Amino acid sequence: MAEYTVKDKLSFLKAAAGSGRRLLAPSSKDGRVRLAEVTPDRVAFDYLNTHLSPKDAFFPQTEKMLAFHKDAAKPGAFVYQPLGLDKIQPTVVFGLRPCDARGLAVCDRVFQNDRFTDPYWKTKYEGAVKIGLACQAPGPNCFCTAVGGSPFGEDGLDVLAFTKGEGLGLKTLTPAGDEFLKGLSGLESGGAAGEMDGLKKAAESRLPGPLDLAKAQAAPVMEIYNQPHWKETADRCLNCGTCTFFCPTCHCFDIQDEENERGGVRMRNWDTCMSWLYTIHGSGHNPRPTKTERVRQRFMHKLKYIPLKQGGACGCVGCGRCVQHCPVNIDIRAVAVDMSK
Ligand code: SF4
Ligand code: SF4
Repeated sequence: MAEYTVKDKLSFLKAAAGSGRRLLAPSSKDGRVRLAEVTPDRVAFDYLNTHLSPKDAFFPQTEKMLAFHKDAAKPGAFVYQPLGLDKIQPTVVFGLRPCDARGLAVCDRVFQNDRFTDPYWKTKYEGAVKIGLACQAPGPNCFCTAVGGSPFGEDGLDVLAFTKGEGLGLKTLTPAGDEFLKGLSGLESGGAAGEMDGLKKAAESRLPGPLDLAKAQAAPVMEIYNQPHWKETADRCLNCGTCTFFCPTCHCFDIQDEENERGGVRMRNWDTCMSWLYTIHGSGHNPRPTKTERVRQRFMHKLKYIPLKQGGACGCVGCGRCVQHCPVNIDIRAVAVDMSK
């Protein structure tokens, strides 16, 4: 893979925006930084991380999946028409933090695997060149290093960039990243990888060491499931779902038809395992009827089930958003410690 230097961030972003791809990047609005389609001069660099995770770019809060209408030729039958897939534009996403890129990779293994492919996710995710921006100054709630990541992590990225004065150092990580940067003007070869190593060590030294998840991950599922601490955490939890909506790896959704007498649209909306409604069956039975079951599900999913299903990769990438935004200060790191006792 290749390494490059650019003297001026804005020229690089102008070249990226001129590549024929839609540019998604962090920008500031109403005092919050979010990932949005922006012009190069509006791209923010002075941010710790985007307020919401970037999963919305690939898995929107609300998405029209298909339209349907009554089939005039066959009474009782409907005609279905997929929506939106043909409108998805190739994109370059600039400024993904490495924790979030790793979170998207966790979602990618959910949305496309050997049993199932979600065409909405696949078209957006694979159609995007993903350029990460390393965290050279991690924040107080960041703990990517505690769950196997790094502020200079490369998982889920095509290119990793870091700030170098007024410019950028860039390292390509995939053929798609190579191809994209080769087509841009104003890049000088070399001058990134060596400097990146030193900056990576400095940034990692400011972050916590690994969480001890060995017991939680090695113990039989039912041993962790039956631990007594779940009720105490559930007693504090409001089941508000804030943690799940902020989380870059949470991916629960609900599908609803909005219809009238002629037809309608099928919508996919974010949902949350913290909601009683999420698991209610048509029969009226609910397998997670109390907060304890729902709280346990969230943390077991992140720290036990996803590692089991995804070859050890933790379902938490340490972005710290749930820790920052939980109204009752429930901290997944403390839950991990309880699970490992
Ligand atoms: S569980 Fe919390 S810290 Fe971990 S990835 Fe999700 S929001 Fe971030
Ligand atoms: S943000 Fe906190 S209170 Fe709300 S559902 Fe998550 S853990 Fe419970």
